[in-house]
Amino acid sequence: MAADKPGIENNDKLDILKSTQIIIKNALDKLGYSDEVYELLKEPLRIMTVRIPVRMDNGSIKIFTGYRAQHNDAVGPTKGGVRFHPSVTEKEVKALSIWMSLKCGIVDLPYGGGKGGIICDPRDMSFRELENLSRGYVRAVSQIVGPTKDIPAPDVFTNSQIMAWMMDEYSRMDEFNNPGFITGKPLVLGGSHGRESATAKGVTICIYEALKKRNIDIKDAKVVVQGFGNAGSFLAKFMHDAGAKVIGISDAYGALFDPNGLDIDYLLDRRDSFGTVTKLFKNKITNKDLLELDCDILVPAAIENQITEENANKIKAKVIVEAANGPTTLEATKILTDRGILLVPDVLASAGGVTVSYFEWVQNNQGYYWSEEEVEEKLQKVMVKAFNNVYETAQTRKVDMRLAAYMVGVRKMAEASRFRGWI
Ligand code: GLU
Repeated sequence: MAADKPGIENNDKLDILKSTQIIIKNALDKLGYSDEVYELLKEPLRIMTVRIPVRMDNGSIKIFTGYRAQHNDAVGPTKGGVRFHPSVTEKEVKALSIWMSLKCGIVDLPYGGGKGGIICDPRDMSFRELENLSRGYVRAVSQIVGPTKDIPAPDVFTNSQIMAWMMDEYSRMDEFNNPGFITGKPLVLGGSHGRESATAKGVTICIYEALKKRNIDIKDAKVVVQGFGNAGSFLAKFMHDAGAKVIGISDAYGALFDPNGLDIDYLLDRRDSFGTVTKLFKNKITNKDLLELDCDILVPAAIENQITEENANKIKAKVIVEAANGPTTLEATKILTDRGILLVPDVLASAGGVTVSYFEWVQNNQGYYWSEEEVEEKLQKVMVKAFNNVYETAQTRKVDMRLAAYMVGVRKMAEASRFRGWI
């Protein structure tokens, strides 16, 4: 891939589907479920591959490949984002759909997990091309999605505009206005207050709960955030506003470090819609150095496989809260836990996004909308309960926080599948 497009390489060695399956197996074993349950849950029930022809601005036709995976719909319709990224693979989409099931189980939503992805680089595409691709994707997967079947949402490099085009396309096919088909929409199209910042809000709530466990005051805390996309940028702002010192941030092009705290408002002002900001600065450190900075809280909010057995021993943070999906490998989780670092896993920490998506869907279904305060209050309750449930499971069952989160997340799905007579 082009040298000026970092952050898109996929490390095949670190197989995220395989490591997810290993933890699911451990979680089911700990809970006393049979191998049949594992056989059912180790892969999505359904995955659809689609090829989407798009007329590009230069007149040519380009065929894009996309996927939609539905992990398990025993609990309810499947739910999860659609990512537009050059490194999307079928295997990644499968793993991500399993993670969505776990997230929904952890925060106790009436959903199973789903996920979609299209192999493309939106950084190279015009508005019109993106619109055609978004509409083409919805037409291609229309048979298997819908407000009571599988509800898409934003993910990496997709946003409320893309959700609006997708909703419009679905509504046209369905011949009526159908806002509950997708979440993460603009407010005027039935979006929810607080959806855009929901992932970061959920991460913030987990940070506060984790700091209580480690007796750290947010005002004394030094924070490092890897990634300046939707989750990372809102999170840096929330930490800054809470009085913490955000000493490091990064994007795919490099990282910025200031031991006295970065000017977050200035950086937010200068960031582009893909979360790029460091290009404007000469004095940079690498993403690798960023992760190893001396800090209290480290928030990986970028891509998968960032903390591995190579660097886990060099991490100095006391608390790690995963805003990204899959930033820490299985081996690194063990090293960090053995070192006494409190690791709040992705399937718990990043569940704020899907929680407010659920609120959005509920509001669409009832046609009555809540204030920002109501959304925040409800999100706070859900996240605090989920955090403490996972933390207590880790303590009482003497397992790491990731395994505890999987145990909490998998249980409802396994039970629902059993009641339905699937296993
Ligand atoms: N893409 C987000 C996630 O990975 C949100 C999914 C949703 O809102 O359905 O959790």
